[in-house]
Amino acid sequence: MKIKAINGFKDILPDAALSWQRIEQVARDIFARFGMREIRTPLLEKTELFARSIGEATDIVEKEMYTFADKGITMRPEATASILRAFIEHGMHVQRPVQRLYTIGPMFRHERPQKGRLRQFHQMDVEVIGATEPQVDAELMAMGQLLLDSLGVSVSLEINSLGCPACRPDFRDKLIRYLKQHEESLCSDCRRRLTVNPLRALDCKDRNCKALVQDAPSILDSLCNDCQVHFTSVKHALDLLEVTYCVNRFMVRGLDYYTRTTFEFITDALGAQSAVGAGGRYDGLLKQLGGPDLPGIGFALGMERLALLMEQQNEHELHQQPATDLFIAALGPQAAEHSSLLVHHCRKLGIKAAMDYSGRSLKAQMKQAGRLNSRFTLIIGETELAEKEGVLRDMNTQKQQVFSLTPSADKQAKAMANLLAA
Ligand code: ATP
Ligand code: MG
Repeated sequence: MKIKAINGFKDILPDAALSWQRIEQVARDIFARFGMREIRTPLLEKTELFARSIGEATDIVEKEMYTFADKGITMRPEATASILRAFIEHGMHVQRPVQRLYTIGPMFRHERPQKGRLRQFHQMDVEVIGATEPQVDAELMAMGQLLLDSLGVSVSLEINSLGCPACRPDFRDKLIRYLKQHEESLCSDCRRRLTVNPLRALDCKDRNCKALVQDAPSILDSLCNDCQVHFTSVKHALDLLEVTYCVNRFMVRGLDYYTRTTFEFITDALGAQSAVGAGGRYDGLLKQLGGPDLPGIGFALGMERLALLMEQQNEHELHQQPATDLFIAALGPQAAEHSSLLVHHCRKLGIKAAMDYSGRSLKAQMKQAGRLNSRFTLIIGETELAEKEGVLRDMNTQKQQVFSLTPSADKQAKAMANLLAA
């Protein structure tokens, strides 16, 4: 019996890995421009960390976590909690008043696998800890937008404010009152969550719930003065940075820790999986986790969804193997020995060089050079070796020239490097 990968866990094969590398390269470059520094935290944390930060009554904690029940540890379903845990544990606020951090890696959630939804998926996660200014919110969204633009992925940005502990309870009560009036039309999930997590009803996918919340009270009408001012300033800062957005008063996010600004990068090109990235403020969370009372904001981009979008939107660019610079076709054992050292020296100098060790015919080796999309092929047979002159063929033009096989292999590699740079 063949053993296959677990449902919801996926291999990223070499062709596909090219787009993943591109995503990471572009992201790291842009993160650096915005002063973000990389942090890497463990894949496993104490279960309590996620229960206390994400919230007991959220989908993630209620049913999606991979938990080793007997050990009280869980595979991280997201990165924010782990980064805050590390921030607190290492007293990182002492070193810098504002920490700008990012991490890239796998997350684990026990969800129903489908297109753009896996059980092991990957996120690029960004957190700014220690800043409350609305300009920071706007700057983060502008960074996300720049990254998505740079990858050739088109999305729209939706924003909302979820208020703070001063104004949200009031809104919650208003919402519960409204929902209770229409309890019979709510789906069973929302009815169950009515008192524990009523905000979830606002972004419930059920058709009846969707219709019902259209007339529900809006959180934006319940914001306290500070939250109101903050939200207005975020919008102003986004306008200044020429970032296009729209306000979605129904956006609530599936994690309890958010306060004030929340946002999502949305696409309609991935069916039901419409969010490419999402995030928001979590001003009380650090303190709640036993850390200093500092504000924070962050967001995460889903890499599977990004890779899918890139494939759909700029297919032609992807899957282009980086071409080989030089293939050496060696004929005979001595030529092969010489070639292996020459290939090694070429590689030391940064040249993408390859050869074949199986002693196949010239024709077969030329075919392989073609498969590797090699720019040049150097042919070295026993005669060429004896006369110290190889034949270098430009694979595009088919033009040939003599390539000197003296003096030493490292000098030959240098000559090759000059030739390739010309
Ligand atoms: P969704 O509404 O699609 O379930 P979410 O609100 O649970 O998304 P977040 O927890 O905010 O997502 O994570 C941020 C991003 O991570 C999402 O926008 C998405 O791109 C990606 N993501 C989340 N869950 C998965 C998953 N199971 N498989 C693949 N990508 C995911
Ligand atoms: Mg989800």
